[in-house]
Amino acid sequence: MADKAEFDLIKEYFTPECWRKDVVLGVGDDCALLAPPAGQQLAMTVDTLVAGIHFPVETTPADVAYKSIAVGLSDLAAMGAEPAWLTLALTLPDIKSDWLQSFSKSFAKTSKDYGVQLIGGDTTQGPLAITVQAMGLIDPDLSMQRGNAKPGDLIYVTGTLGDAALGLKLLLSNTSVEQEILAPCLSKLNRPVPRVSFARAAAKHCTCAIDISDGLAADLGHILDASQCSAEIYLDQLPVSRELEKYYTDPVNGNIEIDWGLVLAGGDDYELCMTISEKLSASLVSLAESMNLSLTHIGNIGSGNELQILGANGQQFLLDKSGYEHFNKNG
Ligand code: ADP
Ligand code: MG
Repeated sequence: MADKAEFDLIKEYFTPECWRKDVVLGVGDDCALLAPPAGQQLAMTVDTLVAGIHFPVETTPADVAYKSIAVGLSDLAAMGAEPAWLTLALTLPDIKSDWLQSFSKSFAKTSKDYGVQLIGGDTTQGPLAITVQAMGLIDPDLSMQRGNAKPGDLIYVTGTLGDAALGLKLLLSNTSVEQEILAPCLSKLNRPVPRVSFARAAAKHCTCAIDISDGLAADLGHILDASQCSAEIYLDQLPVSRELEKYYTDPVNGNIEIDWGLVLAGGDDYELCMTISEKLSASLVSLAESMNLSLTHIGNIGSGNELQILGANGQQFLLDKSGYEHFNKNG
């Protein structure tokens, strides 16, 4: 689309006031012009959310807009970068002003909340898909890279795991469940909070992080591949929410039987998994405490090349991913 309708649409919905000083020229010309500060590196990432694959088609436009930004900011956080700019490539089946109104309002609010400015994009016609490129700034010495884990490091994760996957499972299966369980899980699915400010501060102590988008097992696996290390993690140390625990509690006998496959491989958590030497770990823990963010020690890095998941009885837990067919497995 490059006709009048497209230009009108861009003008009406996607031409924010320029409030970042480093944006010399924003939406409207052939390119945006940016003035990044000298001495900083650029961190760039891009993600596409396709309707029906990366989010259920009934997701509200406000949630889709929020999430399309949050997933990019989560990648920036995983490097320790400060979010700065966004581009938005929007593929729309048709022009629906109600949809565009709520989408663009939420997009503008979310980007302002996180200090990122929309600087350009593309608009095309086709099945609904949203591509957001997120760009950030980072001190050259402070990036947290996947290849920096060392044997002896402790492994930490922020927040809790599995809530978004449980939310998606409940949504897709139409299971009737108490609102007090469903609402927080859906909020985690639709409105994940990228750990941006914690990550920026953590990058002063920690050199290795990844954000958990495909599930802890797969994403920790990327750290192990890149760092040529092994890891041992402990099921009884994995942080799960009260809601998830409640969902997996038998109402009759009170036994808790958590679906660890969902917690480890469900995905869409957008929490951080970090590794840090024992010596420096206390500073990371107190940083998280000072920011009121839960940070849990879940295991340790070793010198082999495998991920071992150990149950409370010390027995190895074998992850069977085949039972999990999630929306977000194609991304
Ligand atoms: P060109 O054909 O020169 O690439 P376009 O016609 O695609 O330009 O877009 C015109 C201007 O509008 C450009 O500045 C582009 O970055 C911006 N733009 C297009 N679509 C969007 C969008 N969905 N969100 C933000 N900016 C957009
Ligand atoms: Mg052009």
